[in-house]
Amino acid sequence: MRILIAEDDCTTRKTLAGVLKKNGHEVLEAVNGAEALQSMQPPDAPDLAIVDWIMPEMEGLEVLRRVRAIQTDRPIYIIMLTIKGDKADIIAGLEAGADDYLPKPFDHGELSARVEVGRRLLEMQGKLIEARNALAHEATHDPLTGMLNRRAILNHLHKELSRARRHGGLLGIGMCDIDHFKRVNDTYGHQTGDEVLCGLTHILSESIREYDSLGRMGGEEFLVITPMKAGTDPASVFDRLCTQVAESPITTRSGALSVTLSIGAAYATAESTVDELLEAADAALYRAKKEGRNRACLSEERVRR
Ligand code: GH3
Ligand code: MG
Ligand code: MG
Ligand code: MG
Repeated sequence: MRILIAEDDCTTRKTLAGVLKKNGHEVLEAVNGAEALQSMQPPDAPDLAIVDWIMPEMEGLEVLRRVRAIQTDRPIYIIMLTIKGDKADIIAGLEAGADDYLPKPFDHGELSARVEVGRRLLEMQGKLIEARNALAHEATHDPLTGMLNRRAILNHLHKELSRARRHGGLLGIGMCDIDHFKRVNDTYGHQTGDEVLCGLTHILSESIREYDSLGRMGGEEFLVITPMKAGTDPASVFDRLCTQVAESPITTRSGALSVTLSIGAAYATAESTVDELLEAADAALYRAKKEGRNRACLSEERVRR
Protein backbone atom coordinates (compact mmCIF):
# COMPACT_ATOMS: atom_id res chain seq x y z
CA MET A 1 0.00 0.00 0.00
CA ARG A 2 0.95 3.67 -0.33
CA ILE A 3 0.93 5.02 3.20
CA LEU A 4 1.31 8.63 4.26
CA ILE A 5 2.80 9.41 7.64
CA ALA A 6 1.87 12.90 8.80
CA GLU A 7 3.90 13.50 11.93
CA ASP A 8 6.00 16.52 12.93
CA ASP A 9 8.20 14.61 15.36
CA CYS A 10 11.15 13.33 13.36
CA THR A 11 11.94 10.32 15.56
CA THR A 12 8.37 9.03 15.62
CA ARG A 13 8.06 9.60 11.86
CA LYS A 14 11.22 7.66 11.09
CA THR A 15 10.27 4.82 13.42
CA LEU A 16 6.83 4.54 11.83
CA ALA A 17 8.34 4.66 8.36
CA GLY A 18 10.84 1.95 9.31
CA VAL A 19 8.13 -0.46 10.49
CA LEU A 20 5.89 0.17 7.48
CA LYS A 21 8.70 -0.17 4.95
CA LYS A 22 9.75 -3.41 6.59
CA ASN A 23 6.19 -4.62 6.07
CA GLY A 24 6.55 -3.88 2.36
CA HIS A 25 4.65 -0.59 2.13
CA GLU A 26 5.55 2.49 0.13
CA VAL A 27 5.88 5.36 2.58
CA LEU A 28 5.28 9.07 2.02
CA GLU A 29 6.05 11.60 4.72
CA ALA A 30 4.53 14.93 5.71
CA VAL A 31 6.04 17.05 8.48
CA ASN A 32 3.05 19.31 9.17
CA GLY A 33 -0.71 19.49 8.70
CA ALA A 34 -0.65 21.61 5.58
CA GLU A 35 1.76 19.25 3.87
CA ALA A 36 -0.38 16.30 4.95
CA LEU A 37 -3.52 17.84 3.47
CA GLN A 38 -1.63 18.56 0.24
CA SER A 39 -0.45 14.95 -0.03
CA MET A 40 -3.96 13.62 0.51
CA GLN A 41 -5.50 15.31 -2.54
CA PRO A 42 -6.69 13.09 -5.38
CA PRO A 43 -5.63 11.74 -7.77
CA ASP A 44 -2.34 10.98 -5.99
CA ALA A 45 -3.84 10.35 -2.58
CA PRO A 46 -2.33 7.48 -0.57
CA ASP A 47 -4.35 4.38 0.31
CA LEU A 48 -3.88 4.85 4.01
CA ALA A 49 -2.69 7.73 6.18
CA ILE A 50 -1.40 7.82 9.71
CA VAL A 51 -2.06 11.32 10.97
CA ASP A 52 -0.69 12.91 14.11
CA TRP A 53 -3.06 15.01 16.20
CA ILE A 54 -0.87 17.96 17.17
CA MET A 55 1.08 19.33 14.24
CA PRO A 56 2.25 22.78 13.15
CA GLU A 57 0.32 24.72 10.49
CA MET A 58 -2.80 22.58 10.78
CA GLU A 59 -4.07 20.23 13.46
CA GLY A 60 -4.65 16.62 12.51
CA LEU A 61 -8.34 17.01 13.30
CA GLU A 62 -8.69 19.86 10.81
CA VAL A 63 -6.74 17.88 8.18
CA LEU A 64 -9.24 15.05 8.63
CA ARG A 65 -12.27 17.28 8.31
CA ARG A 66 -10.93 18.80 5.10
CA VAL A 67 -9.94 15.47 3.59
CA ARG A 68 -13.36 14.01 4.34
CA ALA A 69 -15.00 16.98 2.60
CA ILE A 70 -13.41 15.86 -0.69
CA GLN A 71 -15.83 13.81 -2.77
CA THR A 72 -14.09 10.63 -3.80
CA ASP A 73 -14.82 7.04 -4.74
CA ARG A 74 -11.88 5.79 -2.75
CA PRO A 75 -11.68 7.42 0.67
CA ILE A 76 -8.31 7.16 2.39
CA TYR A 77 -8.22 4.86 5.41
CA ILE A 78 -7.06 7.17 8.19
CA ILE A 79 -5.49 6.18 11.47
CA MET A 80 -5.22 9.00 13.99
CA LEU A 81 -2.00 8.92 15.95
CA THR A 82 -2.26 10.54 19.33
CA ILE A 83 -0.96 10.86 22.84
CA LYS A 84 -4.40 12.14 23.69
CA GLY A 85 -5.69 8.89 25.06
CA ASP A 86 -8.87 10.04 26.69
CA LYS A 87 -12.24 8.95 25.41
CA ALA A 88 -13.49 12.42 24.43
CA ASP A 89 -10.50 12.93 22.14
CA ILE A 90 -10.85 9.54 20.56
CA ILE A 91 -14.52 10.28 19.86
CA ALA A 92 -13.64 13.69 18.39
CA GLY A 93 -11.09 12.02 16.12
CA LEU A 94 -13.49 9.37 14.91
CA GLU A 95 -16.21 11.96 14.39
CA ALA A 96 -13.87 14.10 12.30
CA GLY A 97 -13.45 11.14 9.96
CA ALA A 98 -10.74 8.88 11.38
CA ASP A 99 -11.27 5.17 10.78
CA ASP A 100 -9.11 4.10 13.69
CA TYR A 101 -6.62 5.50 16.18
CA LEU A 102 -3.28 4.46 17.54
CA PRO A 103 -2.05 5.68 20.92
CA LYS A 104 1.47 7.12 21.21
CA PRO A 105 3.98 5.73 22.03
CA PHE A 106 2.90 2.97 19.71
CA ASP A 107 3.59 -0.71 19.81
CA HIS A 108 5.07 -2.06 16.55
CA GLY A 109 2.85 -5.13 16.58
CA GLU A 110 -0.28 -3.06 17.17
CA LEU A 111 0.67 -0.64 14.38
CA SER A 112 1.15 -3.49 11.90
CA ALA A 113 -2.10 -5.14 12.96
CA ARG A 114 -4.14 -1.94 12.62
CA VAL A 115 -2.61 -1.17 9.23
CA GLU A 116 -3.54 -4.70 8.17
CA VAL A 117 -7.15 -4.07 9.23
CA GLY A 118 -7.08 -0.98 7.01
CA ARG A 119 -5.67 -2.99 4.12
CA ARG A 120 -8.44 -5.57 4.41
CA LEU A 121 -11.09 -2.89 4.48
CA LEU A 122 -9.60 -1.09 1.46
CA GLU A 123 -9.42 -4.36 -0.43
CA MET A 124 -13.09 -5.03 0.27
CA GLN A 125 -13.98 -1.47 -0.72
CA GLY A 126 -12.02 -1.89 -3.95
CA LYS A 127 -13.93 -5.06 -4.79
CA LEU A 128 -17.24 -3.34 -4.09
CA ILE A 129 -16.32 -0.45 -6.35
CA GLU A 130 -15.32 -2.87 -9.10
CA ALA A 131 -18.57 -4.78 -8.73
CA ARG A 132 -20.57 -1.56 -8.80
CA ASN A 133 -18.75 -0.36 -11.93
CA ALA A 134 -19.29 -3.72 -13.62
CA LEU A 135 -23.01 -3.55 -12.81
CA ALA A 136 -23.25 0.01 -14.08
CA HIS A 137 -21.55 -1.07 -17.30
CA GLU A 138 -23.87 -4.04 -17.68
CA ALA A 139 -26.92 -1.87 -17.10
CA THR A 140 -25.93 0.54 -19.85
CA HIS A 141 -24.25 -1.62 -22.49
CA ASP A 142 -25.38 -4.21 -24.95
CA PRO A 143 -23.57 -7.49 -24.19
CA LEU A 144 -23.19 -8.57 -27.83
CA THR A 145 -21.77 -5.43 -29.41
CA GLY A 146 -20.52 -3.59 -26.32
CA MET A 147 -22.40 -0.49 -27.50
CA LEU A 148 -24.70 1.64 -25.35
CA ASN A 149 -28.00 -0.19 -24.95
CA ARG A 150 -31.43 1.22 -25.66
CA ARG A 151 -31.93 2.72 -22.23
CA ALA A 152 -28.52 4.36 -22.21
CA ILE A 153 -28.66 5.82 -25.71
CA LEU A 154 -32.16 7.20 -25.05
CA ASN A 155 -30.91 8.75 -21.80
CA HIS A 156 -28.16 10.27 -23.81
CA LEU A 157 -30.63 11.61 -26.34
CA HIS A 158 -32.58 13.29 -23.53
CA LYS A 159 -29.39 14.95 -22.34
CA GLU A 160 -28.31 16.04 -25.80
CA LEU A 161 -31.74 17.51 -26.43
CA SER A 162 -31.61 19.51 -23.21
CA ARG A 163 -28.20 20.72 -24.20
CA ALA A 164 -29.40 21.73 -27.65
CA ARG A 165 -32.28 23.51 -25.92
CA ARG A 166 -29.88 25.48 -23.72
CA HIS A 167 -27.47 26.40 -26.49
CA GLY A 168 -29.95 26.66 -29.33
CA GLY A 169 -28.05 24.03 -31.32
CA LEU A 170 -29.28 21.52 -33.87
CA LEU A 171 -29.40 17.86 -33.11
CA GLY A 172 -29.62 15.14 -35.71
CA ILE A 173 -30.53 11.51 -35.16
CA GLY A 174 -30.39 8.58 -37.52
CA MET A 175 -32.33 5.38 -36.95
CA CYS A 176 -30.24 2.77 -38.76
CA ASP A 177 -31.67 -0.61 -39.69
CA ILE A 178 -29.83 -3.39 -41.52
CA ASP A 179 -31.50 -4.35 -44.77
CA HIS A 180 -32.77 -7.91 -45.10
CA PHE A 181 -30.89 -8.98 -42.04
CA LYS A 182 -33.17 -11.96 -41.57
CA ARG A 183 -31.66 -13.39 -44.77
CA VAL A 184 -28.19 -13.30 -43.22
CA ASN A 185 -29.44 -15.39 -40.30
CA ASP A 186 -31.41 -17.70 -42.56
CA THR A 187 -28.52 -18.23 -44.97
CA TYR A 188 -25.50 -18.34 -42.67
CA GLY A 189 -26.90 -18.95 -39.21
CA HIS A 190 -27.39 -16.86 -36.12
CA GLN A 191 -23.73 -16.81 -35.10
CA THR A 192 -22.71 -15.28 -38.40
CA GLY A 193 -25.58 -12.83 -37.91
CA ASP A 194 -24.09 -11.90 -34.55
CA GLU A 195 -20.71 -11.35 -36.14
CA VAL A 196 -22.29 -9.07 -38.71
CA LEU A 197 -23.90 -7.04 -35.91
CA CYS A 198 -20.52 -6.67 -34.19
CA GLY A 199 -18.76 -5.85 -37.45
CA LEU A 200 -21.36 -3.24 -38.31
CA THR A 201 -21.00 -1.68 -34.88
CA HIS A 202 -17.30 -1.38 -35.54
CA ILE A 203 -17.84 0.29 -38.93
CA LEU A 204 -20.38 2.69 -37.47
CA SER A 205 -18.21 3.70 -34.53
CA GLU A 206 -15.28 4.27 -36.85
CA SER A 207 -17.41 6.37 -39.19
CA ILE A 208 -19.08 8.72 -36.74
CA ARG A 209 -17.35 11.78 -35.32
CA GLU A 210 -16.05 11.82 -31.76
CA TYR A 211 -18.91 13.93 -30.42
CA ASP A 212 -21.53 11.69 -32.05
CA SER A 213 -22.93 8.77 -30.13
CA LEU A 214 -24.10 5.33 -31.08
CA GLY A 215 -26.34 2.81 -29.36
CA ARG A 216 -28.13 -0.42 -30.16
CA MET A 217 -31.87 0.13 -29.98
CA GLY A 218 -32.51 -3.60 -30.25
CA GLY A 219 -32.23 -6.33 -32.89
CA GLU A 220 -30.56 -4.93 -36.00
CA GLU A 221 -31.42 -1.31 -35.23
CA PHE A 222 -28.94 1.30 -34.14
CA LEU A 223 -29.36 4.94 -33.19
CA VAL A 224 -26.82 7.58 -34.08
CA ILE A 225 -27.03 10.96 -32.34
CA THR A 226 -25.17 13.77 -34.00
CA PRO A 227 -25.03 17.33 -32.75
CA MET A 228 -24.83 19.52 -35.86
CA LYS A 229 -23.61 22.94 -36.78
CA ALA A 230 -26.16 25.17 -38.46
CA GLY A 231 -25.96 24.70 -42.20
CA THR A 232 -24.95 21.04 -42.03
CA ASP A 233 -27.11 18.83 -44.17
CA PRO A 234 -28.19 15.93 -41.96
CA ALA A 235 -29.15 13.82 -44.97
CA SER A 236 -25.59 13.99 -46.30
CA VAL A 237 -24.15 12.89 -42.95
CA PHE A 238 -26.27 9.75 -43.04
CA ASP A 239 -25.85 9.20 -46.79
CA ARG A 240 -22.16 8.96 -46.12
CA LEU A 241 -22.79 6.42 -43.40
CA CYS A 242 -24.85 4.26 -45.80
CA THR A 243 -22.07 4.35 -48.39
CA GLN A 244 -19.45 3.54 -45.81
CA VAL A 245 -21.36 0.48 -44.61
CA ALA A 246 -22.17 -0.77 -48.12
CA GLU A 247 -18.50 -0.50 -49.08
CA SER A 248 -17.08 -2.24 -46.00
CA PRO A 249 -17.39 -6.04 -46.12
CA ILE A 250 -17.53 -7.64 -42.68
CA THR A 251 -15.32 -10.60 -41.87
CA THR A 252 -17.30 -13.50 -40.46
CA ARG A 253 -16.89 -17.26 -40.02
CA SER A 254 -18.89 -17.58 -43.26
CA GLY A 255 -16.49 -15.32 -45.14
CA ALA A 256 -16.65 -11.60 -45.92
CA LEU A 257 -20.23 -10.36 -46.03
CA SER A 258 -21.58 -7.03 -47.13
CA VAL A 259 -24.73 -5.55 -45.71
CA THR A 260 -26.53 -2.31 -46.39
CA LEU A 261 -28.32 0.07 -44.07
CA SER A 262 -31.48 2.08 -44.34
CA ILE A 263 -31.48 5.20 -42.21
CA GLY A 264 -34.31 7.41 -41.09
CA ALA A 265 -32.91 10.80 -40.20
CA ALA A 266 -34.56 13.59 -38.29
CA TYR A 267 -33.31 16.71 -36.68
CA ALA A 268 -34.56 18.66 -33.76
CA THR A 269 -34.66 22.22 -32.71
CA ALA A 270 -34.86 23.34 -29.12
CA GLU A 271 -38.58 22.63 -28.95
CA SER A 272 -38.58 18.99 -30.08
CA THR A 273 -39.25 16.19 -27.65
CA VAL A 274 -37.46 12.85 -27.73
CA ASP A 275 -40.65 11.02 -28.68
CA GLU A 276 -41.38 13.35 -31.59
CA LEU A 277 -37.87 13.00 -32.84
CA LEU A 278 -37.91 9.20 -32.69
CA GLU A 279 -41.29 9.04 -34.34
CA ALA A 280 -40.09 11.25 -37.18
CA ALA A 281 -36.96 9.15 -37.64
CA ASP A 282 -39.03 5.97 -37.69
CA ALA A 283 -41.32 7.40 -40.35
CA ALA A 284 -38.30 8.41 -42.43
CA LEU A 285 -36.81 4.93 -41.99
CA TYR A 286 -40.03 3.41 -43.25
CA ARG A 287 -39.73 5.61 -46.34
CA ALA A 288 -36.11 4.61 -46.87
CA LYS A 289 -37.14 0.96 -46.86
CA LYS A 290 -40.02 1.60 -49.22
CA GLU A 291 -37.90 3.59 -51.63
CA GLY A 292 -35.52 0.69 -52.11
CA ARG A 293 -33.25 0.43 -48.99
CA ASN A 294 -29.52 1.23 -48.81
CA ARG A 295 -30.30 4.93 -48.38
CA ALA A 296 -30.98 7.67 -45.85
CA CYS A 297 -34.25 9.56 -45.87
CA LEU A 298 -34.76 12.76 -43.98
CA SER A 299 -37.93 13.39 -42.06
CA GLU A 300 -40.04 15.79 -44.10
CA GLU A 301 -40.03 18.56 -41.59
CA ARG A 302 -37.99 19.73 -38.74
CA VAL A 303 -39.51 18.12 -35.75
CA ARG A 304 -41.14 20.63 -33.49
CA ARG A 305 -44.06 20.78 -31.24
P1 GH3 B 1 -35.71 -5.12 -43.50
O1 GH3 B 1 -34.81 -4.81 -44.61
O2 GH3 B 1 -37.14 -4.83 -43.80
O3 GH3 B 1 -35.28 -4.44 -42.24
O4 GH3 B 1 -35.62 -6.69 -43.25
P2 GH3 B 1 -34.97 -7.46 -42.07
O5 GH3 B 1 -34.86 -8.87 -42.43
O6 GH3 B 1 -33.70 -6.78 -41.67
O7 GH3 B 1 -36.00 -7.18 -40.89
P3 GH3 B 1 -36.80 -8.16 -39.99
O8 GH3 B 1 -37.39 -7.28 -38.91
O9 GH3 B 1 -37.73 -9.00 -40.77
O10 GH3 B 1 -35.74 -9.10 -39.34
C1 GH3 B 1 -34.83 -8.70 -38.40
C2 GH3 B 1 -34.02 -9.89 -38.01
O11 GH3 B 1 -32.99 -9.56 -37.08
C3 GH3 B 1 -34.83 -10.96 -37.37
C4 GH3 B 1 -34.03 -11.39 -36.16
O12 GH3 B 1 -33.86 -12.76 -36.10
C5 GH3 B 1 -32.71 -10.72 -36.37
N1 GH3 B 1 -32.04 -10.39 -35.12
C6 GH3 B 1 -32.48 -9.56 -34.16
N2 GH3 B 1 -31.59 -9.52 -33.14
C7 GH3 B 1 -30.58 -10.37 -33.47
C8 GH3 B 1 -29.37 -10.76 -32.82
O13 GH3 B 1 -29.01 -10.32 -31.71
N3 GH3 B 1 -28.55 -11.64 -33.47
C9 GH3 B 1 -28.90 -12.14 -34.70
N4 GH3 B 1 -28.07 -12.98 -35.27
N5 GH3 B 1 -30.05 -11.79 -35.33
C10 GH3 B 1 -30.86 -10.92 -34.72
MG1 MG C 1 2.85 16.19 16.76
MG1 MG D 1 -35.62 -3.83 -37.87
MG1 MG E 1 -33.79 -4.80 -40.94
